[in-house]
Amino acid sequence: MRRSHLGQIARAFVQWFDSEYFDPATVSDGRDVDCINWLRTLPFVILHLGCLAVFWVGWSPIAVQTAIALYLVRMFAITGIYHRYFAHRTFRTSRWAQFMFALLGASSAQRGPLWWAAHHRNHHRESDTQADPHSPVQYGFLRSHVGWFMCNRYYATHYPRIQDFARFPELIWLNRFDKAAPAALGLALYLVGAWLERTAPSLGVTGLQLFVWGFIVSTTVLFHATATINSLAHLIGSRRYDTGDASRNNFLLALITLGEGWHNNHHQHMGCTRQGFYWWEIDLTYYVLKLLSWTGIIWDLKPVPAKAYDPAEQLPAKRAAA
Ligand SMILES: [Zn+2]
Ligand SMILES: [Zn+2]
Repeated sequence: MRRSHLGQIARAFVQWFDSEYFDPATVSDGRDVDCINWLRTLPFVILHLGCLAVFWVGWSPIAVQTAIALYLVRMFAITGIYHRYFAHRTFRTSRWAQFMFALLGASSAQRGPLWWAAHHRNHHRESDTQADPHSPVQYGFLRSHVGWFMCNRYYATHYPRIQDFARFPELIWLNRFDKAAPAALGLALYLVGAWLERTAPSLGVTGLQLFVWGFIVSTTVLFHATATINSLAHLIGSRRYDTGDASRNNFLLALITLGEGWHNNHHQHMGCTRQGFYWWEIDLTYYVLKLLSWTGIIWDLKPVPAKAYDPAEQLPAKRAAA
C-alpha cells in the first residue's frame, strides 16, 4: 500500500514536468477517470495559495502594473491564439509566428496549445450534452469552471481532434512540456525584480514581489477570468441565436476576456475571427488581430458571414432589439 502511494507521488512529480508521461493507472483504470487527481493538480493549488504571499512581499506600482499588463497580454494570447487560431483556425500565419504565438499562449499556464484547442473543439461538438467536458448545465458551475480539467480523464491531449497542428514537432514539444514557458516567465520576472531592487531601489520592488504579482496573482486571475466562458457564459446573458446549447452573450464577460463574452454569437458562427458582431459588442481581441493583419504577421481573417445579420436566423426578441 505504502509502495503504491510512493509510486503515485513519483508519477505525479514526473507529470508536473512532462505532461505526456504515460500513466497506466489513470489511463487504463476506468473507475477513477472522473476523479480529481489532487497530486497532479498540486501546482495549480499552490498557485492559488501563493496569492497570499502578497501580504508578505508587499506591493509597488510597478509590480501591480506588471500584473495587469501580463493579464492583458496573456488574455489576448488565450483568446486570439489558443482559441481563435488553434481551436478554430479563423486566420492564418507563418510557421515561425505560429510558434511564437503558441509560446506566448503557453506562458498563460493553461496547459499546451494542442491540449487546449482539442478539448475546446470537443466542447463545440458536444456543447451542453453529457459528452461536453465543461457544461455547467450538465455538471454544475464548479465542475465547468474548475473541476473538469483536474479530473484524470482530461489530462491527456486528444490528438485525433487536433491532427492539423500535431504535425508540427515544435508544437508537440511545447504541448508536452507545458510548464516550460510559465516557468521561464516566472524566473524572468524574479530576475528583473531582483535587478531593479539593486539598480533602482526607489521603485520599491523586489525579485519575489515582481514574481508574486506578475506571475502568481496575474496567472490566477487570468485563469478564473478565462474559465468564466466555460461556466458563466453558458449560464448568464442573452441569446441571439438558437444554437441548441446554453451559450450566452454577456457584455461584462466580454470586457474581462477581451471579447470572448459574445459566446452565443461564437457558438452560432465559430469559424469567424470576430465574436462581437455589432459595433457595440466590444471585442478587443478582434481589434488587435485586425491591427496585426495590417502588419502582415497574420492574414486571411475570416469575416462574419452575412447570414449572421439575417433576421430569420436571429431569435425574435433579439431581432427586435437589433
Ligand atoms: Zn461554449
Ligand atoms: Zn470556440
